[in-house]
Amino acid sequence: MRDWFEWRSLPNANFAVIGDPISHSRSPGMHTAAYEALALGYRYVAIRVPLEEFSQAMDAITKAGYLGVNVTLPLKEAAFDWAAGGDPRMGAVNTIRIEDRSGINTDAPGFLRTLTELGVRPCRVMVLGAGGSARALCVALHDAGYDVCLFNRTPERAHQLVRDSKCDIKVLDSPDPTSCGLVINATSAGINQDSPNLLWERVERDALAYDLLYSQEPTPFLMEAANRGLRGVDGKRMLLMQGALAFEWWTGQEAPQEAMMKALD
Ligand code: NDP
Repeated sequence: MRDWFEWRSLPNANFAVIGDPISHSRSPGMHTAAYEALALGYRYVAIRVPLEEFSQAMDAITKAGYLGVNVTLPLKEAAFDWAAGGDPRMGAVNTIRIEDRSGINTDAPGFLRTLTELGVRPCRVMVLGAGGSARALCVALHDAGYDVCLFNRTPERAHQLVRDSKCDIKVLDSPDPTSCGLVINATSAGINQDSPNLLWERVERDALAYDLLYSQEPTPFLMEAANRGLRGVDGKRMLLMQGALAFEWWTGQEAPQEAMMKALD
């Protein structure tokens, strides 16, 4: 039996993650574990919502009495337009509260929390990719005092990101991470078992390689880093942190992170 729903046949529930495709999402397990740990009695489900049906689906979800939704690919930009309160420099929202039709982005602050946990301090950072996640991260890193440089396979998209973000970010002509203490893979290359171009021989020996992607096996980017003796981290803690921040925003309670992490393991 499949464990996700089409939006036209909404189940009774309180929260959901919406996206397309949605079958891979780890959010239902993680949030359900949190509700169980605190005996909240909520139900969290996964719902497939195609981009062109986003607005209709949100009307149906609102009518059905849901309290909130997490939003994933490819709906984060549409969610920003639909909900009030998102940061226009990020242009993407991943958490919506239905009651007041408001939205926030917890990916970026969740990511920053993981850097604090890892003891990373503001430094020169290289971001690879210029999609939705890269944009949110660039804004958050810039605001947190990092010196951000950006490289994307399609250069015009990187320039557009800088214009939209209104941040002082340098677009590089080549993926040269010289002097960077942190190198972030914010591309989706790993989904196809690929790794973005990077001048690995120029990565500083003490730099941290951070892949936003999370999978059971080491990602191609992190395998490249490990082959060169570099420290690497994947997107699992970020997934946890963005979920914990969404939980706290919705419920006003501290997220039971241990239970949530267990559900991801
Ligand atoms: P988008 O689709 O918005 O952007 C994808 C980016 O990847 C583009 O810049 C694209 O470049 C680049 N790209 C794709 N394939 C390649 C390749 N083979 N080589 C080089 N560049 C490539 O994706 P998102 O920003 O939403 O997501 C990016 C990654 O972050 C995904 O892996 C996603 O799973 C992960 N993620 C993890 C989260 C977590 O909590 N851990 C949260 C959110 C995202 P171009 O412009 O040239 O096409």
